[in-house]
Amino acid sequence: MSKTILELRNLNKSYGIVKAVDGISFSLERGEFLSLLGPSGSGKTTTLHMIAGLTSVSDGEILLGGKSINALPPYKRDIGVVFQNYALFPHLTVSQNIAFPLEMRGISGKEATSRVNQALQLVDLPSFGSRYPRELSGGQQQRVALARAFVFEPKLLLMDEPLGALDKKLREYMQVEIKRLHQRLGATIIYVTHDQDEALVMSDRIAVFNAGKIEQIAPPSEVYNRPKTRFVAEFVGETNIISAKFERAEGSFQIFRSEALEIRIQGAEPIYKNEVKLSIRPERIRIEPILSQSASNKISGIVSEVIYFGRTIRYLVDSIDGSLKLTIVKQVSSLTEKTFSKGDRVDAFWHEFDVMPIVEGP
Ligand code: ADP
Ligand code: MG
Repeated sequence: MSKTILELRNLNKSYGIVKAVDGISFSLERGEFLSLLGPSGSGKTTTLHMIAGLTSVSDGEILLGGKSINALPPYKRDIGVVFQNYALFPHLTVSQNIAFPLEMRGISGKEATSRVNQALQLVDLPSFGSRYPRELSGGQQQRVALARAFVFEPKLLLMDEPLGALDKKLREYMQVEIKRLHQRLGATIIYVTHDQDEALVMSDRIAVFNAGKIEQIAPPSEVYNRPKTRFVAEFVGETNIISAKFERAEGSFQIFRSEALEIRIQGAEPIYKNEVKLSIRPERIRIEPILSQSASNKISGIVSEVIYFGRTIRYLVDSIDGSLKLTIVKQVSSLTEKTFSKGDRVDAFWHEFDVMPIVEGP
């Protein structure tokens, strides 16, 4: 049996002159949890709707289990869906709601009852079958919607911001619940979110969407630590972007310059481009009282702003020569740690591994 369950080949969707989805391709493996992450309007929902069969495809192909499903109506696609506003039927009980997709597929009687009960167990609502949706909390309703989506054991589960309407605490609880279900069922899931933390926590891989295109598709740690494009670096987490010029190579190091600052990068791939953009995460920059020696990957600066977050402190540091402004985030692991105040002279520096060259677009 092939490991690939879903394949999108150069998928496009146009609304008049708007390219909602602009040439998207990827493969999904059985059991994988893929998040589509991107800002509002970047084409996530349109992609999901094309896979589900709720929106027609302008160009390209969708293969499920090796077969093209472009021409299949939604109910013949063997795909379960959970949407933010995909409400339960208010006039049906929880059990009747969950049994609905089974009925649609001609499964009834004992077989249906047993599957519904199993689904209720899985979402931890075993005794809620005879209640009506209005008698449940928001989180419980969303669990029933989940049960309804997977009760017919679809090849693929699609979820479009399913936790968007829930408050922060409940959302975090449900994230864990969905991950648990994913593991227990061995289900293959595509999960749409605009929340970078949610995508980082839940996914095996993340596809970062921007203006109808995928800028990077990779595991969370790779998307965070090795962003390919400026958009990915800025959308997933926070970053400092430095414009620099290539100066020379030294063994496995490449040396760049930005005004007075010399930046050394340890990189497998030589860049050797005149102008580059470099990305450094705020938490990878260290901040110290003035160091005596001058060195690479270090700026002398002045603290221009201090913002207190409890667990972390955010410093804005301006280089002495005025050419750079860095955001630095420092964990506060002990109250004995040295902190800095506005106006302090400091040095900010980082490790050669922590600077990433990035490109402007995909
Ligand atoms: P996302 O889910 O990432 O927020 P969408 O897939 O909903 O983005 O939308 C992508 C783009 O397509 C947006 O510019 C949106 O305005 C446009 N769009 C979506 N649906 C329609 C439609 N039915 N008619 C016209 N434009 C649409
Ligand atoms: Mg959407």
